[in-house]
Amino acid sequence: MLYKQFGKNGPMVSRLGFGCMRLPSIGEGENKRCDDEKCIPIIHRAYELGINFFDTAWGYTNRDNQRIVGKAVHDFRDKIYLSSKLPPSEVQQPGDFRRKLEHTLKLMDTDYLDFYHMHALNAQKFDHAKKMQMDKDMLKAKEEGLIRHISFSFHDAPRVMVDIADHGIFDTLLCQYNLIDQSNEEVMAKLADRGMGVMVMGPVAGGMISAGGEDFRKLYDTPAETAEELALRFVLGYDAVSLALSGMQSIEMVEKNVAIVEKIASVTAEERQSYKATNDKLKGLSELYCSGCAYCNVCPQGIRPQQHFKAYNRAKVWGLYDAAKQDYLDDGLDKDAEKCLGCGACSAECPQFIGIPEKLAEIKAYFTK
Ligand code: SF4
Ligand code: SF4
Repeated sequence: MLYKQFGKNGPMVSRLGFGCMRLPSIGEGENKRCDDEKCIPIIHRAYELGINFFDTAWGYTNRDNQRIVGKAVHDFRDKIYLSSKLPPSEVQQPGDFRRKLEHTLKLMDTDYLDFYHMHALNAQKFDHAKKMQMDKDMLKAKEEGLIRHISFSFHDAPRVMVDIADHGIFDTLLCQYNLIDQSNEEVMAKLADRGMGVMVMGPVAGGMISAGGEDFRKLYDTPAETAEELALRFVLGYDAVSLALSGMQSIEMVEKNVAIVEKIASVTAEERQSYKATNDKLKGLSELYCSGCAYCNVCPQGIRPQQHFKAYNRAKVWGLYDAAKQDYLDDGLDKDAEKCLGCGACSAECPQFIGIPEKLAEIKAYFTK
């Protein structure tokens, strides 16, 4: 396993972090629970192979995920780093944060968390967190040693990430970044330069890059043998990134990913540059390229045009039509074209001069034809 310092003052973490969200479960709906018999050997194998970072969250697997992660790492707790997350929506009155943190510590059978995140922040959720004094409560918990690092995970426009980091309490962040979504790249570098630890989720774009398989891999000049390997080489080859979280569901997956990461040391600046050049070439062939800046998020109907363009470009630029269509339909984006009033407020903000209302209709036709 390879290790890297997590931010300027952070610990040495394995470059592959274990995202525990997708651990095997039993039961359906409200009865869904982690499958202890399957989960524990997977986590133990990851530890044996050198993974020392395990990430869970309050809500995963019907709130049963933190329990199994704590149970699985119990015998080597002091040798690894435990990370969890609490969404601001869980904090509705003073005292909620503390109660939930204490519940998590008890459930995970640990005295402290190495990393504790405000979960899935956007501008609105961060405002709510501050209103509920979650930031102050996190600082207090850190002073008391219940949390070692204060972190946030992020889903909003890149400029919002800087605003949140500027608040000053955060040591590390977790955001999306991969070969087909580099909207956060510049901001990640800026915050890493300031000494923040940067961790990445979705290195294979939620399975989309894996689904592209050999056709996708062949788009790039790469020593990688598979599309997944290419994806991890790209993400972990970026200086700003300390580690990538991968949601692993089986021992085979753990062994495969560890073997890939062990080869990452050989990623040169030239190799990464060639991936970026290929991306630029592919984007240049597309008739539309949205940078994901989100300046257009001014819609009175709540439409987020960049979500449409992201799906469209994944299909058009990288040839991932089936997977992109699935995401487009799963996210209910096909309903947006009817909701659009054609007011043009979004297009007026777009630095790429995209005629957004017309494109929404075109993209709908493209995915529902
Ligand atoms: S044109 Fe449509 S998508 Fe754009 S702001 Fe108006 S209603 Fe929203
Ligand atoms: S549509 Fe334009 S404004 Fe909106 S995210 Fe894309 S590039 Fe930015």
